[in-house]
Parts: sequence; C-alpha cells; structure tokens
Amino acid sequence: MSNTQLPQMRLVEPNKTVRIGERKIVRIKRAQDIIETIAWSIVLAMLVMFLIDGGLKGITDLPTALGAISRITSLLGTALLLIQMLLIARIPWIDKFYGHDGATVTHKKLGKPVLYLISAHFLASLIQYAINDGKDVLTTLWSLMTIQDLLLATISFVLMLVVVITSLNFARRAMSYEAWFFVHLTAYISVAVAVPHIISTGSDVAGKPVQTIIWVALYLFVFLNVLWFRVIIPVRKSYRKQLVLAQNVRESSDTTSLYLTGKHLKKIEAVSGQFYFLRFMTPTQWWRPHPFSISAAPNGEYLRFTIGDRGDDTKLMQNIPLGTPVAIEGPYGLFTEERRTKEKVVLIASGIGIPPIRTLAESMAARPGDITVIYRVRNGEDASLLAEIKEICSRRGFPLHVVEGPRGAKTSWLNNDGSGNPDVARLTIMAPHVSEADVYICGPQVWTESVIKSVRKAGTPLDNIHSEEYAW
Ligand SMILES: Cc1cc2nc3c(=O)[nH]c(=O)nc-3n(C[C@H](O)[C@H](O)[C@H](O)COP(=O)(O)OP(=O)(O)OC[C@H]3O[C@@H](n4cnc5c(N)ncnc54)[C@H](O)[C@@H]3O)c2cc1C
Repeated sequence: MSNTQLPQMRLVEPNKTVRIGERKIVRIKRAQDIIETIAWSIVLAMLVMFLIDGGLKGITDLPTALGAISRITSLLGTALLLIQMLLIARIPWIDKFYGHDGATVTHKKLGKPVLYLISAHFLASLIQYAINDGKDVLTTLWSLMTIQDLLLATISFVLMLVVVITSLNFARRAMSYEAWFFVHLTAYISVAVAVPHIISTGSDVAGKPVQTIIWVALYLFVFLNVLWFRVIIPVRKSYRKQLVLAQNVRESSDTTSLYLTGKHLKKIEAVSGQFYFLRFMTPTQWWRPHPFSISAAPNGEYLRFTIGDRGDDTKLMQNIPLGTPVAIEGPYGLFTEERRTKEKVVLIASGIGIPPIRTLAESMAARPGDITVIYRVRNGEDASLLAEIKEICSRRGFPLHVVEGPRGAKTSWLNNDGSGNPDVARLTIMAPHVSEADVYICGPQVWTESVIKSVRKAGTPLDNIHSEEYAW
C-alpha cells in the first residue's frame, strides 16, 4: 500500500445490534465462579495430599513439626505458583472472563503468598535436616548441595527470590521494563528445576502413584497452556498473516499511526477496543513486544495502531522503516462492546488513551445521541485522532466534548473552565445519562482512577464502568 492508496478515513459499518441487559454480567460471573472453583479445588487437593500423608498426626517434636510445615507449605506454594503462571500466560479461557489486566492483578497479588510459602518450606526443611543431623544450618546447607535434586531446588528458590523482589514496586521503578521482563522469564526456569526434588524427595508425592499423576498432570497442563498460547499460537499467527509496516502517518507532534498490511486480514479476530502485542522484527526490537490498541476498527485491509512517543521504544516506532515485518500476539482485552449492558454509553479518553475509544465510537451499535464522547487533551491543536473522532461523532450524531488545557484542581481529571464546579457536576452536564450508561475509560492510571471516582459519584454502578489501563 502506498501513501496515495491510503484512504483518507475509512470507517467500517457500525454493529447493527448489541445484546444488552444484566444477564451478560451474570453469565460472566458464573464463568468466573467456575474458574475460581477449579483453582480452589487444586488448593484443596494439596491439603488432601497432606492429610493422606499423615497431616499433623505425626508431630511429636520440633523436627516433625518442621517436617509438617515444610510439606504443607511446599504443596500450597507450588500449587499457587502454577496458578500464578497460568494467570499471566495470556490464556484466552482466563482473559476472556477477567481481562488480561484483571488476571495480571491477581497474578501480582499471589506473588507474596507464594514467596512466603516457599521460603517457609525452604527454611523449615533446612532446619529440620540440621536438627536431625546435629549440625549447624550452614554446614547442613552445604552438605545438601551435594545432592543434585536439592541443589536444583535451592537454585529454584534463589531464582524465585530474585523474581519476586524485582517485582516489588521500589525495585520495579528502578528497572527498565525489558530488564524486569527478562528477570521474570527466569520464573519458568525456577519452576522447572524444582520438579525433580518434588518427585524424588517430596514425601507427599514420592513413591505415591496417584499423587505423582496429579502433580505431573498439573505441571503438564500449565506447561502446555503456556507453550500453546504464549508460543505456538503467536508464532503461527504471525507466520500466516505476514504483517509488514505499510505506512506511517504523523497524527500529532508526538504520535504516529502505523498501518500494517498482510495476508488473511479479512479473518482478523480483533474487535474494537482490543489490543495486540507488537514486535517489530528489526535486530534491536524483535525481542521487545509492546501492547497497543487497534486505532481503527478492523476493515479487512489493514490493522492500524496509533503510538505515542512515551519511552525509548515508542520513540523509535515513530520512524520505523516501511516494509519492516511485524509479529503480533493477540487480540486481547475486554474493553469491547461485548461488555456493554446498557443502551446509553459514555466514552472517555485522555491523551494516547484515544485509540480504543475512537474504535468503539466507530463500531458500537447506537442511535444518534446514545453515545457521548469526552476527549481530554492538553492542546486541541495537537491532539491525535481528533479530526477522526470529530468526523465519527458528527456522522453518527454523538455529542463530543473536547476538554483541553491544564487541569483545574490537583486531583481533577478535567481542565480549568473557571466555573469552579466539581468534576462530577461537569460530567453530568456533559453526559446527563451517565448514571444509567456503560462508561468506558482509557487513559493514564491516576487520571483513570480520578474519572472512575466521578463516575461512581454520579451514580454509575461499578459493573458498568470499564477501563483499560495502559500499565504493566
Ligand atoms: C493494554 C494496553 C494498550 C495500550 N495501547 C496503547 C496505544 O494504543 N497507544 C500507545 O501509544 N500506547 C499504548 N499502550 C502503552 C504502551 O504499551 C507503552 O507506552 C509502551 O509499551 C512504552 O514502551 P517504551 O519502551 O517506549 O517505554 P518505556 O520507557 O520502556 O516505558 C514507559 C512506560 O510504558 C510502560 N511499558 C513499557 N513497556 C511495556 C510493555 N511491554 N508492556 C506494557 N507496558 C509497558 C511502562 O509503564 C513504562 O513505565 C498500551 C498499553 C497497554 C497495557
């Protein structure tokens, strides 16, 4: 596709109908209940294994108490660790009901419990061995290191410590995303190298065929899910689609739209509001995937992303050479019309949060007036996709409020309009039906939190507020 072939603005036909009503939410909650029941059953299975192996019965002194602590913490810690890995593997049957961001939040929450359980297992086992052998802890540790499976288990523990510590907020802020990501990949090594000692020395598993089968099945299930969804599907999809960067169009002083063309684009599964991980296949960028929302509803001709210059890689992407192959992973995300349950909709974007909001405005089923769009920008002269969003709103009869300029109060998500009105009052003036609408919000994290507060104050139930956080 050359520059001259690029359509000025190619809008897709909006969806003709949408299923609304609360039953959708009930169905999602039911699916979540099933997934959570399965997760709790795994935890329960670990407790049962512990009880079958004697539970607390054999505790007669300190070493046997330490043995019991070591066994239960290892069973629970490993089960939670495997669940944690599934949550971050971008698995459709999880992300479909929780969203990738929701799954990531739970993944993060499990980090500390897993660390505490595995640390307790490590220390309890070590002290138990030391007491039984009548040696000090360091000498015992040294002698255990001569047993190959236990050496691997200790390496696994150290790797896990590194992964969890580098994920704590203070450490994460000090690292680049890529450095953090690479350290995080060692979590897979950590899980793998711990397996031999579970099978050979874990008394709840070793020598017990049923328990061994359950344990191996659990590991295999997680491994196959990660392999299939994180590796095989993305590689196959990228190979089939053969996407290349066909055009880049400057949208504002710090954003550029990238048009990707390739094969089988009519069969693209993405819907408005979703995002992909993109890898530009250049020598320096191929290993650095970044998430970007589609910024035009899929039209069978190209995929478009609008990228703000927010860091080292996104700066590079403003000028990436045409013809560069691009590998994609996705689509992901629940920031879509599928989550809509109301007739009225309010779409609120700030800055580079505009791409998914623009595609939703383009494709959602609506009559004139059903959708209100609020676009918060620093400067109306230099806001990305503003002309497009104006065109969509004018063609479809949607009220559009472009809110530009510096903010009012420090905690305000709106500009200083001189009225002194609180944000919630201004929101209800712009979108009078906000309390009975589905509200979609996309923008920086702190700004989004502030918008959600106003929307809640205006009376919108939490289930009807949908936000896409541009955060990791
Ligand atoms: C679901 C989602 C959709 C997004 N859609 C868009 C979009 O349509 N347009 C757009 O311009 N931006 C979008 N972003 C943000 C975009 O991914 C980041 O700005 C980009 O990855 C920054 O990369 P960098 O190397 O230039 O910045 P860095 O300097 O490395 O980081 C700047 C900030 O970007 C975030 N970040 C960096 N790398 C990643 C990564 N691989 N995954 C997640 N976050 C990362 C971190 O919060 C970091 O603090 C989206 C983010 C998410 C999570």
